[in-house]
Amino acid sequence: MSPVNAAGRVHTSAGSLGTGASYPHSMASARQIHVGGVPIGGGAPVAVQTMTKTETANLPATMDQIRKVAEAGADIVRVAVPREKDVDALRTIVRESPIPIIADIHFNHTLALKSIEAGAHCIRLNPGNIGGPEKVGEVVDLARAKGTPMRIGVNSGSLPKHLHALERENPVEALVRAAEEFVELMHRLDFQDFKVSIKSTSVPNTIASNRLLAQRIDHPLHLGITEAGTKWSGSLKSAVGLGALLADGIGDTVRISLSTFHAEEEVKVAWEILKALKLRERGPVLIACPTCGRLQFDMDTVVSEIEERLRAYDDPIEVAVLGCAVNGIGEASHADFGITGAKDEGLIFSRGKALRKVRTEELVEVLFEEIDKYATRREIVVDDAASAAAGAEWLAEIEAENAGEMTPERMAALEKAKAQESGGGEDVLAAAGVEGADEEADGRRGLDEDASPTAGRRFTRA
Ligand code: SF4
Repeated sequence: MSPVNAAGRVHTSAGSLGTGASYPHSMASARQIHVGGVPIGGGAPVAVQTMTKTETANLPATMDQIRKVAEAGADIVRVAVPREKDVDALRTIVRESPIPIIADIHFNHTLALKSIEAGAHCIRLNPGNIGGPEKVGEVVDLARAKGTPMRIGVNSGSLPKHLHALERENPVEALVRAAEEFVELMHRLDFQDFKVSIKSTSVPNTIASNRLLAQRIDHPLHLGITEAGTKWSGSLKSAVGLGALLADGIGDTVRISLSTFHAEEEVKVAWEILKALKLRERGPVLIACPTCGRLQFDMDTVVSEIEERLRAYDDPIEVAVLGCAVNGIGEASHADFGITGAKDEGLIFSRGKALRKVRTEELVEVLFEEIDKYATRREIVVDDAASAAAGAEWLAEIEAENAGEMTPERMAALEKAKAQESGGGEDVLAAAGVEGADEEADGRRGLDEDASPTAGRRFTRA
């Protein structure tokens, strides 16, 4: 039975899961572990991790990928250790990596023991496929002695045999039961230094099983959608599944699994999810209008170029790209920097004010000149007052000429005003005008701090 009901809400009725549990918002896991120097759980920032795609024993290729993912913002990276030669490479990798290393072990507990000895910062294993509780116990004993944490995980494709019947009847309960059994095993072995993952190719089952698990255990949770797919579909599936859980306060570290050899792409997607939920900050945020028939320049190319160039910046500045000046700066008035283009000319603006008027083909270049000036001076300065004044005038003229046009932005303002009218009797038509956007003109609006599910769990880069 699917855990998603007709209204699209994940539910766990007693009939579907046999628990009768409801899901209040839970906070991140109470317990905390440390993978190298990175705290996981216990209120720490949600850690971004990925996994190398290279043969681990190929040191140059593996180290190259590790450096790339670290550069892209990975806090931790996992490497597969299926052979002895990978353990040999692991020693060097641990020594040279800029971020902590997790050794990924399946079926062979000897490799787990050797990986701990090689200095891995964490060992990932599935207690169900490592050869029985005694062998798990051996690994745990050494991990305890060396202070090495572990990730224990279950996958929908590899549940223990005794749970197969339950899996057919209730896959979510079967996943959670398997994870709980492994947690109980760790407790019996008197080992607490671990995090837990439940992974499924099904987004609804991933959401439901992690919600249920978060209610039953207080160990840190690693989130991911198994075999999510290509960069496009896998990113979306991951955003839906992980986004729902993270918004509920569930999940302490995330890995996006994409079918690409470029592990750094997984890291970028993870960061976009965390940034979208305002859980962490990293680099600029790009906003762009969806475009419509009023567009008069090649905005696709311009937005792509801006997005690419912004990757080189660390500051969490907000940059807006508007396809036309018909609405003025409108809803992008809070952006730190922005451009609004037209056929021949465009405007560079900052926090609602014109900075420079330039030819359309210069928009991107001049935008980055202004961003770079800010990066150096740490303040926004109008260097060319005449150009700024010309830009403001140009904008006002376009706005006046198009005052009657029902643009998407004005329709949105109209709807908003209509809603306010039903509650408070505001002037609908006036609010639909250009000035209607002014009320959004300060700061990062649109985020209701009281209602936000991620309030109180935000972390800046520092
Ligand atoms: S009217 Fe709005 S959506 Fe259309 S191009 Fe202009 S800014 Fe973009």
